[in-house]
Amino acid sequence: MSELLLKGKTALVTGGSRGIGRAIALAFAREGAEVAIADYGDDAVAAEAVALLREAGSDKAFSLKGDVSDPEFAKACAAQMKDVFGGCDILVNNAGITDDGLLLRMKPESFDRVVRINLNGAFYMTKEISALMVKARAGRILNMSSVSGVKGNAGQANYSSSKAGLIGLTLSTAKELGARGITANAIAPGFINTPMTALLTEEQMARSVAAIALGRAGEPEDIANLAVFLASDLAAYITGQVIAVDGGLVL
Ligand code: NAP
Repeated sequence: MSELLLKGKTALVTGGSRGIGRAIALAFAREGAEVAIADYGDDAVAAEAVALLREAGSDKAFSLKGDVSDPEFAKACAAQMKDVFGGCDILVNNAGITDDGLLLRMKPESFDRVVRINLNGAFYMTKEISALMVKARAGRILNMSSVSGVKGNAGQANYSSSKAGLIGLTLSTAKELGARGITANAIAPGFINTPMTALLTEEQMARSVAAIALGRAGEPEDIANLAVFLASDLAAYITGQVIAVDGGLVL
């Protein structure tokens, strides 16, 4: 049997209770990592995810509850990772929201909230967790961007700004922390079947799928497969990249 790709590693996945984050957290656990998740909402959903993580092999899996847009929450997450797991080898900044609307009608509060959660949140987490990684002189940071951050999207000025910002954060992190043995990469999913995309109307879904070369939406596991690779030793020499997993949507 081949060696597990993340054996002995520890990981924190924000937004790991459902959707893409849950698929990544579970894939990490199956590959031998101990995994913590950090979410804001439903306790029952987080508890279900932790139970699944334990079944998948992460015996010490736990969840943290808080808002990633609060810098104090990031500090608390780093402290817990240190206490429970002794550090953090892999950080996945995946928590995110949408609040779509046309630019002319978009309220400043909507723009601020989406950027605060999707982008500021990733910065706060990176700042606190990378301090643990610097001490270990090793680490992997994955930021969940989006096709929307690469090529923009009508009705998503707030969201695409936050996701483009995440690409800038990824590039600067890669440059700043590379000498400490830490890599930072961004994943740009296309249209993936999750609770987030379930909010779209049938017409919006049909329009999105029509633009995909492979002719179908992706699944959270399609993203998790890349996340496992980027988090593993196989990707030790890959940093500062933005990798699309979109079935050919950006072509
Ligand atoms: P989802 O099903 O809506 O899950 C989002 C996760 O983020 C939930 O676990 C949620 O936790 C957490 N979250 C939201 N706000 C938070 C906050 N303030 N603090 C802490 N946690 C928070 O979304 P998804 O589709 O899996 O998306 C995951 C990531 O992929 C997002 O960054 C999204 O932008 C990106 N993405 C998704 C797609 C797609 O097609 N689905 C495409 C491109 C990029 P609670 O429910 O507990 O609040």
